[in-house]
Amino acid sequence: MTTIDDLPIRDDLRGRRPYGAPQLDVPVRLNTNENSYPVPEPVVEAISKALAAELRDLNRYPDRDAVALRTDLADYLGHGLDTDNLWAANGSNEIQQQLLQAFAGPGRTALGFTPAYSMHPLLALGTGTRWVDGRRAADFGLSPADTVDQVRVHRPDVVFLCSPNNPTGTALNPAVVDAVLAAAPGMVVVDEAYAEFARPGTPTALSLLPGHPRLVVTRTMSKAFGFAGGRLGYLAADPAVVDAVQLVRLPYHLSALTQAAARAALAHRSALLGTVEVIKEQRDRIVAELRRRRFTVADSDANFVLFEVGGDQCVVWRALLEHGVLVRDVGLPGWLRVTAGTPQETDAFLAAIDQSGKVEQ
Ligand code: PMP
Repeated sequence: MTTIDDLPIRDDLRGRRPYGAPQLDVPVRLNTNENSYPVPEPVVEAISKALAAELRDLNRYPDRDAVALRTDLADYLGHGLDTDNLWAANGSNEIQQQLLQAFAGPGRTALGFTPAYSMHPLLALGTGTRWVDGRRAADFGLSPADTVDQVRVHRPDVVFLCSPNNPTGTALNPAVVDAVLAAAPGMVVVDEAYAEFARPGTPTALSLLPGHPRLVVTRTMSKAFGFAGGRLGYLAADPAVVDAVQLVRLPYHLSALTQAAARAALAHRSALLGTVEVIKEQRDRIVAELRRRRFTVADSDANFVLFEVGGDQCVVWRALLEHGVLVRDVGLPGWLRVTAGTPQETDAFLAAIDQSGKVEQ
């Protein structure tokens, strides 16, 4: 049988495994920060209608520039943003890949601050970009001074910041973004995949866009909108950044069906985003209940919670799975991440924790 190793694959990909959280068929899946709530019936109907209207024209390529969708996204974000500030792709993963293709690549460097979103270094690998793992403080915090020091040392072409950060859940102090923008020689990407779940008063980097043409804010409909299967991510930036990613995007990368479904979803955003408050309540409940059980828990502005198990996280991960609850081992020794979903899912998670959870400290 032929294996990858028999093929003339790139040396830097040899021996690697594809990215992916386990997709196991268990009753309670709290491992990929999806929105647990299914799409509400009226929105299903609206999306079905929008898709049906496209079907006869599938012999034609879609709008390559996805102008109507970008206009709808600008309207959703507000902050004085316009169609030419927005760009959309198949998930914010593809957006970030396009950013690396345009602004990094062979001979260039990207810097992130670990632990952060594990796809950032993998997207760097795929685009031939040198990746530098920056440091965070022991409490996962990122101070302006420490961040800027690392930017000055590595002089990266692209800096990834993540707010709220995955897997820790912590929102970034805007002073860090400000300081990095002043110190970085290249592009500064703020990944705000979980922005809609932030606690009141949490700032977004969108307000820093005017006057900062090297700043890019990436967002997604995968989380708060409950549209992960629809694959729609986007960025907001100076129009010049949108021109730059168009140099590397595949022509017609966003299908007519994706564009139509996303527009219908955006038109029904109040119904879709109606789940955000319930999820935030469950997030806060998980934090409080774990703390009540004397776990160390990171503050969270996202739809997930990172907690210290007090021992080998692999053992606890397996014990929870045996009780039908799938959480995420993000590879951080001693810690696990759990997604906040429905009240029933929180009940199941806490029951599983009580039966199997804490290793004695
Ligand atoms: N950024 C962060 C921080 C994420 O956690 C995720 C999803 N896990 C993404 C981006 C990518 O999401 P998508 O490609 O579905 O938009």
